[in-house]
Amino acid sequence: MPQTVLVTGATGYIAKHIVAGLLNRGYHVVGSARSASSHAQIRDAVTPVLDDTSDLDTRLRTVALDLGSDEGWTAAMQGVDVLMHTASPFPLEQPKDPQEVIRPAVDGALRALRAAHAAGIKRVIFTSSTVAVATGDLKPGKTAFDEEDWSDVNHSEATPYAQSKTLAEQAAWDFVKSDAPEMELTVINPGFVLGAPLDGNYGTSIKVIERILAAKDPMLPKFGFSSVDVRDIAEMHIRALDTPESIGERIIGVNRFMWFSEMAKAIAEEYPERKISTREAPNFIVRILALFDPAIRTIVPSLGKEHRASNAKAQSMLGIEFRDMRTATKETARYLVDNNLA
Ligand code: NAP
Repeated sequence: MPQTVLVTGATGYIAKHIVAGLLNRGYHVVGSARSASSHAQIRDAVTPVLDDTSDLDTRLRTVALDLGSDEGWTAAMQGVDVLMHTASPFPLEQPKDPQEVIRPAVDGALRALRAAHAAGIKRVIFTSSTVAVATGDLKPGKTAFDEEDWSDVNHSEATPYAQSKTLAEQAAWDFVKSDAPEMELTVINPGFVLGAPLDGNYGTSIKVIERILAAKDPMLPKFGFSSVDVRDIAEMHIRALDTPESIGERIIGVNRFMWFSEMAKAIAEEYPERKISTREAPNFIVRILALFDPAIRTIVPSLGKEHRASNAKAQSMLGIEFRDMRTATKETARYLVDNNLA
């Protein structure tokens, strides 16, 4: 009997790649979305990349779940063997009140874990982020952040989103320790995720490529992330299921650090006619612009900082060979251009 995996936030950019990967490995999938009417969206997005669609309607279902409401969680867990919790708010602009993202992230994580625990589900794969690892200062003597590191939610670099991911991941580990020690939790901590989405409903990371393609910014801030291809992140979630050593572990998913200017250069090579700016703005100009623009203000504490994170554990434990990031950047841009989305 194939295992059934509940993937929360199945309308998401990363989750759709996970759902497709699970279906291609023979799993049954229950995807959750805020509205069950999103079933067609999820089904249509994954269908072109499935090896076999013949019994798709029995292998893929959608249930309605909201991170902020108790409704439906108990019923959703019936017949489920594994919880993959990916749903979490990922806003493009940071809210004035950090609780707007912290509450759904933390309460939603606990709702998902409590419901899974009550239904006797032991295996849980939880999508956190490198912002729960690498927000703040590197410990003396280290050259890269690793899974031993935790973000400092009070650091000036900690955006409400970074706080939400850090606090939600901590809440998950605390819940397992205190209330459900038999639960088998693996946490995946992706960096900045790029790579072609499966449909036009994609998340915040792809919006950065959309903005570069729009070529409206005369210069780019000296800002960047440890980045990773979405297919590698989906693969990490799925391989963890067959890797008992990953139980009780956090695993960082990154290939390497990329500045926005490097992403822009890769895209400009493909689309020279767009006159995409690849020049970096001096930090003092960005600081002045930040006085007038709250979105820019959130990146000021991180300007010029190259936060590297180690992928050694993902390679050794899950056997991931990370895909090239210039290619992932170009493929993201190509999807957007070919589908008239940018
Ligand atoms: P996304 O496309 O925006 O997906 C987020 C998902 O969470 C969507 O399905 C969204 O549902 C759901 N969600 C948000 N708030 C919700 C709520 N209150 N109730 C129920 N569902 C809610 O973003 P993504 O890039 O795929 O991110 C997926 C996960 O990976 C998140 O946990 C994110 O923090 C993490 N992550 C992403 C990146 C990245 O660079 N993309 C990096 C590190 C970690 P709706 O469709 O209804 O909004």
